[in-house]
Amino acid sequence: MSDPIVRFVPLGGLGEIGMNCFALECGERILVVDCGMGFPDDDLGVDVLHPDFSWLYEREDRIEAIFITHGHEDHIGALPYLIRNLKKVPRVFAPPHASALIRERFADHELDSDCIVETPVGSRTELGPFSVESVAVAHSIIDATALAIDTPVGTIFHTGDFDLDSCQPAGHLTDALRLEALGQRGIRVLLSDSTNIDTPVRKGSEQGVIEALERLIMPAKNRVVVGLFSSNVHRLDGIFRIAKKTGRKVSLLGRSLTKHYAAARAVGQLQNSESLLVGPEQITGLPRDKLIVLAGGSQGEAASSLRRLSLDTHQSLRLEEGDMVILSSRVIPGNEREVFTMQNDLLRLGVDVRSRLTDPDVHTSGHAGRSEQAQMIEWLRPDAFIPVHGTLHHMRKHRDLALELGVPDTVVVENGTPVRIPKAGPLSVERPVRHGITRIAIGGEELDAETRRRRQDLGRSGVAVVALAVGEKRNRIEFGPTFSAFGIPTVDGDASAKRAVRREVERVVSEHNSRSALPLEESIRRAVRRMIQDWTGTRPVVEVHLDRVR
Ligand SMILES: [Zn+2]
Ligand SMILES: [Zn+2]
Repeated sequence: MSDPIVRFVPLGGLGEIGMNCFALECGERILVVDCGMGFPDDDLGVDVLHPDFSWLYEREDRIEAIFITHGHEDHIGALPYLIRNLKKVPRVFAPPHASALIRERFADHELDSDCIVETPVGSRTELGPFSVESVAVAHSIIDATALAIDTPVGTIFHTGDFDLDSCQPAGHLTDALRLEALGQRGIRVLLSDSTNIDTPVRKGSEQGVIEALERLIMPAKNRVVVGLFSSNVHRLDGIFRIAKKTGRKVSLLGRSLTKHYAAARAVGQLQNSESLLVGPEQITGLPRDKLIVLAGGSQGEAASSLRRLSLDTHQSLRLEEGDMVILSSRVIPGNEREVFTMQNDLLRLGVDVRSRLTDPDVHTSGHAGRSEQAQMIEWLRPDAFIPVHGTLHHMRKHRDLALELGVPDTVVVENGTPVRIPKAGPLSVERPVRHGITRIAIGGEELDAETRRRRQDLGRSGVAVVALAVGEKRNRIEFGPTFSAFGIPTVDGDASAKRAVRREVERVVSEHNSRSALPLEESIRRAVRRMIQDWTGTRPVVEVHLDRVR
């Protein structure tokens, strides 16, 4: 028999932040680890980004199972889109909290939840050639796990998202003892989270955040609104405790918060919080110093509760001079403009805005800084190292750290490039497989490259529509031409432009004959486009509807 080989096939999250997903292939079997989504990178009506799953679709009968490390969107968000395209749904193993969130998500997509197998943190699951042990890690969500995956070539250890916070108000700490023990037993390959490699030492802790929030809320005289990532149960738990201490009620604004509240309750968290909870409709009846509002939208997202509060258009609450908004979150790179616009709108309302910029302790990252990444490598002492979760910059720097710490074999790859893992000897890189980004439009359909390009064109330069009917035998216009323009400056709704286009179309029709080089439709399209380009300098999309009548 030939020597066993495991192939690591990254499909998302290597070379980018988000959309985490990779596969391990051993013989005929495939284990998928995480299935994350990303958020739209343009304004073209895109709802969700996820990795191109073609490689998995082509091998779907070989998928043994999907294993989820924790419940963040960039690890579970693409599951419905993968599952809905598979003929036979594989089992989805996930820790309890992630399971609750996946069930919610599947319900939204009208998918059956029977495939979800709740896997206690610290348990072991046998899946064909893979034996998966989940190991507790601290993170900005409860029930986060790393995975120690025993395979015929040795143990492949995936950290998932982790940090080494020494106090997790609502969850478990990183299981250092188990990590050390696994390191002593021997790790063939370590896959580790690179997100925060640029932070030498991660500052703060979840408990420290709660204390900072308490320092701000305790003396506050009016309403306090806290903007936060709704998946952070540690923080929800802490804020309910502060509410109790300060005699305030808590109201949750936004769908995401109510869903995450329900998921946390489903796994036994946030007990005793119910008596503190008030519905959004009860807010106005409460004295201003008796209320904490939790609101989604810390990134300034257009339809979010926080954004609407900042624009004074929220149906349940109007903020007033002297209220306080605490942004207990970070600004995800790329969202700076939206967040600052929102902050400034809040300031204009007379609101006291607190954020990491004014009070550094109101948020802490859930991703290991460089010192914690180093500690992880030292505990596990792997034979080989592949950095994951990060752009090429992050992964290269993380690789350098592993080299510094004496890991003998390191490989940096981006999405789509498989790494061959033999039982002994160096890792090697293989030819890329099909990979990329799939865009899901609002409404749930896939937005293919061609349609996306059309949307871009429409947005950039507008569209003009010409409709006419021409006699089949003679070139005589029997109806029209009608002309309308959408989003073309000086042409949109302009009567003289309309007349000029009509005359031009009539000219083209009258000059057209059987010897013309182009079909009539195309000649009209080009003529109208040229005309508008002369007027405006832009080349709009021109649609010609030509009917031939007897
Ligand atoms: Zn995470
Ligand atoms: Zn993540």
